[in-house]
Amino acid sequence: MGKGGTTHFEFFGPHGPAVLVFALPAVCYALIIGCNKESCLQLWPEFKLPSFPQNVSFYSNEAMLVYLAWFFGVALLHVILPGPKAEGVVLPNGKRLTYKLNAFRIFLLTYGAALYFGFVSRQLDLGWLYDNFAQLLTAAILFSSALSVYLYASSFKKGALLSGHGATGYPAYDFWMGRELNPRLLGGAFDLKEFCELYPGMIGWALINLGMAHKQWVATGSVTTSMLLVNVFQLYYVVDALWCEKAILTTMDITTDGFGFMLAFGDLAWVPFTFTSCARYLVDYPQHLSPAATCLVLGVKLLGYAIFRGANSQKDMFRANPADPRVAHLKTLKTERGTQLIISGWWGTARHINYFGDWIMGVAWCMPAGLQGLAAVVPYFYCIYFASLLIHRERRDEHACRLKYGKDWDKYCALVRYRIVPYLY
Ligand code: NDP
Repeated sequence: MGKGGTTHFEFFGPHGPAVLVFALPAVCYALIIGCNKESCLQLWPEFKLPSFPQNVSFYSNEAMLVYLAWFFGVALLHVILPGPKAEGVVLPNGKRLTYKLNAFRIFLLTYGAALYFGFVSRQLDLGWLYDNFAQLLTAAILFSSALSVYLYASSFKKGALLSGHGATGYPAYDFWMGRELNPRLLGGAFDLKEFCELYPGMIGWALINLGMAHKQWVATGSVTTSMLLVNVFQLYYVVDALWCEKAILTTMDITTDGFGFMLAFGDLAWVPFTFTSCARYLVDYPQHLSPAATCLVLGVKLLGYAIFRGANSQKDMFRANPADPRVAHLKTLKTERGTQLIISGWWGTARHINYFGDWIMGVAWCMPAGLQGLAAVVPYFYCIYFASLLIHRERRDEHACRLKYGKDWDKYCALVRYRIVPYLY
């Protein structure tokens, strides 16, 4: 049992995060070393290990300053620009926090300015983001680490509301999970966690992709279809998340997890610097997709979207109103808890068929790198990582549902046998 009474430890136990805080940044660097313009890992037709890049610098004061200007510039915009307000869920202390939601406005301003000054007036060299990618990554890692130290230290202040998972008494675990639930600055007006979750990292991700497209455009005079597809697919995801900013207030990250290294590093370094691996690869190794290959990529994306949206909408409609004519025909299992579990339609095929759809979309994000990219692994990093994330998340939800539904959950599992992939897993 943990010193704080916790019995259940994730992430390889109470001391596991002591390794993860070094291992995850190492993965970010490995992706750069594993594939860059000088050499790239290759699995076939012949196996080739990459050599350590000679012309890549991993730190510069310039990149550090640009990173800090970006973070604090976006923070300033968040403070000064107006935005609708929304209340979060009821906290363990019975209170609710108010959030200012202007992520989409800041996205429009910054991304719009980058598009205009980069591609129309040509006063801004967005390719700088490609040229200084490794240095910017180091800046993001240093900054998120420093932020995590601040978050950990400040969580000991009197009256801080602590997360149930992150106050175990094991320093490495608590540093990783985050002790304080909703750390705030400026007299409670600035929510650090919600800001980091959506603003600098997500918008930064879209901008880095745009920088890759700009680099290719300046170097070759055009942007390939493959680069365009990666940019559009991922941009759609970012825009959707920012447009629906209010939805984040009910997610586990905001309601349950504390703010520590896991989220700070994840939001500020992992998302913008690993999810852009495919676009970065396409600058170094441009892929020219045939019309048939383009249709295939679009088809995979649409298939994933149809499953993802179909399954999520079916469940949302059913949970909102089971008598809705669009879902009233579905077969269900009545449970002692009072709620029903759907056992036909999308939810009769696998217990998390929505994750499968989400993963297929992730595959489509990587497919523009083609077979050559598949042999290089790095551009397909996102779908490899996402598969492990969804498998882990499915186990977490399964655990929670077994606690919620008891033996009804076993009945449900006997009726719907597959976890994520019908007939396979
Ligand atoms: P789900 O949307 O799958 O919700 C799980 C909950 O749905 C269960 O706890 C249960 O809650 C209810 N449920 C489960 N089975 C049934 C059923 N047969 N009938 C009715 N209700 C059921 O999980 P998430 O919140 O994890 O995921 C939401 C979306 O976000 C997914 O599409 C996922 O792919 C995506 N996602 C994306 C991530 C990313 O990084 N891009 C990360 C994780 C998720 P109850 O019974 O209490 O209603």
